[in-house]
Amino acid sequence: MKWLYAALFGLGWTLQVQAGIEVSRVRSWPSPERTRYVLDLSAAPHYQLSPDSSPGQVLVDLPDVPVPGTLALHAAGLVKTIAFDPAGQGSRLRLDLSAAATPVVFLLPPAPQHPGYRLVVDLVSHDQDQDAPAPALANPPLPPSPPSVSTAPVEHNDKPPVAAHWRPVVVAIDAGHGGQDTGAIGPGAIYEKTVTLAIARSLREQMQGVTGLQPVLTRDGDYFIPLVERREIARRHYHADIFISIHADASPSRDARGASVFALSLKGANTATSRFARALAERENQADQMGGIKVPSHDGVLANVLADMVVEGSLEHSLHLGGEIIDELKDFSPLHAHHVEQAGFAVLKEPGMVSLLVENGFITNRKEEHQLSDAAYQAKLAHAILRGVERYCQQYPLPGSYFAWQRQSALKARTAEAD
Ligand SMILES: [Zn+2]
Repeated sequence: MKWLYAALFGLGWTLQVQAGIEVSRVRSWPSPERTRYVLDLSAAPHYQLSPDSSPGQVLVDLPDVPVPGTLALHAAGLVKTIAFDPAGQGSRLRLDLSAAATPVVFLLPPAPQHPGYRLVVDLVSHDQDQDAPAPALANPPLPPSPPSVSTAPVEHNDKPPVAAHWRPVVVAIDAGHGGQDTGAIGPGAIYEKTVTLAIARSLREQMQGVTGLQPVLTRDGDYFIPLVERREIARRHYHADIFISIHADASPSRDARGASVFALSLKGANTATSRFARALAERENQADQMGGIKVPSHDGVLANVLADMVVEGSLEHSLHLGGEIIDELKDFSPLHAHHVEQAGFAVLKEPGMVSLLVENGFITNRKEEHQLSDAAYQAKLAHAILRGVERYCQQYPLPGSYFAWQRQSALKARTAEAD
């Protein structure tokens, strides 16, 4: 369970008491829709939007962040004054506002271009809020990382609704294997676990720039996570809508090549759509044994999960999403299979999420091993998956999402034209 503490620590829920988390910088981005403050921190803090907050004053309790010594604090946008007030061992961030705003507070884990933790305080202007009485993000699912947080705010020409008006589609990106479970190993000694993490991180980075999508990683380092826990993290912790497990394929034949996309099999682990898919599922399912976990086979559980997925339509949607991703991959990767294959992947057995497993190519193929370990190629694979996700979200917009709003606006525009 050590990994779990590690994961929770990474999410700011450490069970240990940490003392003396430092704030190294406070940045701000005012825009007409919102004022954003970002605190750069030395570790993941506990944080809470204080119930003492009022429409004119936002208070964020930081019990393990002492009042910073010298720090440049600038009023910007809706904020008239910003200060850290002492509170017990820690501090309380105080933002006095010039106009009422809805606060949204969340923590971002380290990213390639941002090695530290960032606490984001968004103040969504009420002017923007008039015709949306119930901001979806006022009580954000933990811990959201909306688009464009790792860089300066995105400039919108066509003025999309403010974040408070829609909820992001949460995409859990699952880098296969990790820690003692290396996954497949290529002839040039490249590990699958390394390749999957690199692609996952690239996908997250690119997805952060897309309005309406919120990427989260199930693992962001070289450690082992049991398959069932990956789904738990995605579903119960992040409330993910989409789950994409990233892998690289292996074959005894060094000539085997190409990417493929898999969804969970309707018929269970023993009747996959092809013998190839079944063998692959068996291999990927071994990850838990590699990690030292004994997993009995759960045919009964699988049957129930599948029944749930069918009822909710998430399996059908997984096939739609997979089709979009294959469409993107085929432009540059020889496809190992031209349709979404289905097999009993343990990591995909979660009702309520549109779930896919992407094999990004064969690590056992010398040429593809070389490509898979190349940052530019990893980014290309990630981009293909991202485009697939975007197209899927546009075609099947989740109610309340940015994509649903986009479609509605387009419909309105068309109706207006018709009038
Ligand atoms: Zn794998």
